[in-house]
Amino acid sequence: MNARATIGVLALQGAFDAHVQHLNALDTDVRLVKTESDLQAVNGLVIPGGESTTMSNLLVASGLGKTLTKKIDAGFPVFGTCAGMIMMAHSIIDGRPDQIVLNAMDIQVRRNGYGRQNDSFEQDIDIKSFDTPFHALFIRAPIIEKVGDDVEVFSTVNGHPVLVRQGTALASSFHPELVPDLRVHEIFISIVHESNSSQVR
Ligand code: GLN
Repeated sequence: MNARATIGVLALQGAFDAHVQHLNALDTDVRLVKTESDLQAVNGLVIPGGESTTMSNLLVASGLGKTLTKKIDAGFPVFGTCAGMIMMAHSIIDGRPDQIVLNAMDIQVRRNGYGRQNDSFEQDIDIKSFDTPFHALFIRAPIIEKVGDDVEVFSTVNGHPVLVRQGTALASSFHPELVPDLRVHEIFISIVHESNSSQVR
């Protein structure tokens, strides 16, 4: 029997509310994560879009960054979108020098990589295992410049990965929480359930 999983949404800064609504629409238990005790009470965490340099400051100031890194090293599921994906990277190009990374996946990202002219754009993208395209919104989005051998690429735009998974970590450079389509969130929920049931056993 599986314990019911609770999914946390990091709520220090940024566009967390839209993620909460998507998770609610998928009938999951959701908890906003602002403190250590919130973090200890959840089975996986969504790291939203926003501004990664600010999120980095707040993760350091709250002490959540250290706890989160330890949990991630032990296999805790995380799903980062846009700024959240930057936080999850192994290394950042064009970040602020003191910006921390959580090193949840072996990806190198270029912050604001799609550049000024293309600050925001939207595109229908093909995603591995989806029958129909997904309408993806890119907002001052990072580019994934490099992925390690253990990273699975689910979708690319102009040759750059935009949706990637490594173990229990999932990341997108676009914003699946800002379109009505719930399929990318479903992937994360199944990662959390898999990981939860293997721990309960
Ligand atoms: N450019 C932002 C950053 O560097 C990310 C933008 C977003 O999350 N929409 O954090």
